[in-house]
Amino acid sequence: MSDHRAILSEHLRDARALVDTLEWQRTAMVEASIASNADDEHDPEGATIAFERAQLDATIVEIRHRITELAAALSRVDDGTYGICIHCGLPIPPARLEARPSATAHVDCAPGAPAPPR
Ligand SMILES: [Zn+2]
Repeated sequence: MSDHRAILSEHLRDARALVDTLEWQRTAMVEASIASNADDEHDPEGATIAFERAQLDATIVEIRHRITELAAALSRVDDGTYGICIHCGLPIPPARLEARPSATAHVDCAPGAPAPPR
C-alpha cells in the first residue's frame, strides 16, 4: 500500500505545480490586458484574451478538482480504505488504479462514469 501513497503523492505534486503555473499565467494574462488597456467589446484581440482566460480558468478548476480527489485518495490510504470500491466494497483492480489513481469505484459501479482511460 506504500506504493499507492508514493504514486498519489507524485500525482498531487505534479497537479499542484501545474495549477501554480496556470495561475501564474492567468495573473500575467490579466496584468498584460490591463497594461494594454484591451477592450473586450471593441478590440478583437481583447475578445481573444477573454476567451483564453476563460479556457485557463476552466483548466484551473479541473486541476483543483483533481487535487481534491488525489488528496481524498491519500487520506483513504491512511485509513486503509484506498482501492476499495465505495459502491460494492470489493477491491478495485490494480490496472484501474494505475490508470486513475484517485478512483473510488469500479468502472461498472460508478454511476454515469465516463469511459475509463486506455
Ligand atoms: Zn464496485
